[in-house]
Amino acid sequence: MTDEKKVLTELDRQIYEWQMWVPDFGEVGQEKLKNASILVSRCGGLGSVVAYELAAAGIGKLVLAHAGNLKHSDLNRQLLMTYDHLGKPRIDSVQRRLRDLNPHIEIEPYGENISESNARDIVSNVDLIIDCAPLFDERFAMNRQAVVQGIPLVECAMYDLEAQVTTIIPQETPCLACLYPDQPPMWERQFPVFGAVSGMIGCIAVMEAIKTIAGFGQTLKSKMLNVDLRSMKFQIIDIYASSDCRVCGHF
Ligand SMILES: [Zn+2]
Repeated sequence: MTDEKKVLTELDRQIYEWQMWVPDFGEVGQEKLKNASILVSRCGGLGSVVAYELAAAGIGKLVLAHAGNLKHSDLNRQLLMTYDHLGKPRIDSVQRRLRDLNPHIEIEPYGENISESNARDIVSNVDLIIDCAPLFDERFAMNRQAVVQGIPLVECAMYDLEAQVTTIIPQETPCLACLYPDQPPMWERQFPVFGAVSGMIGCIAVMEAIKTIAGFGQTLKSKMLNVDLRSMKFQIIDIYASSDCRVCGHF
């Protein structure tokens, strides 16, 4: 979505040298990352790790949405938050940690969560979305805009020691509303979570985004990865679009 194509600098080559050794990624892939923008919706347990790994990998622009002030109960998993920032806006701590890691990327912060009222404008600024929001109204708002605007969406979610990831390509794969026509009953704002579970699934989501943008490897298109860290079962299943989906069913 950037106007002029950015090329790699000598400094970029030094910083990203080790990942450019990945043979089907290389300098071409790195340049694609440098010219890409990604929305990370919520920078909590999942999104903190997602944003941190994307910044480390040299994504050109991070658009971040995360409301609220830092609480003690955030600190077991929201790894971009620090103790000295308690009571202050979480989005400020997020930006500070990311800039410490990588001062060369562009960051567009929003101190609010995604909603039906802001999703269209925020989504229109990015090349890909990683959905790290816990609530279905946010996730549905992003999914709708991803489908309408034709923007890939990596969907990741977790509960307890279980997690799921899929990559939605509009007009090609099922969308979130195909999988969940309605908000699942009993879905809760607060849930049991170790930071290591959300961090693990966040890292998988980042690799889905990098592969999608750079165009290499196999992604979880039309597939759902189900992970259960209690039993250490990793399973990939095929998923299908719903012809009467209220969001993408007209394609
Ligand atoms: Zn759908």
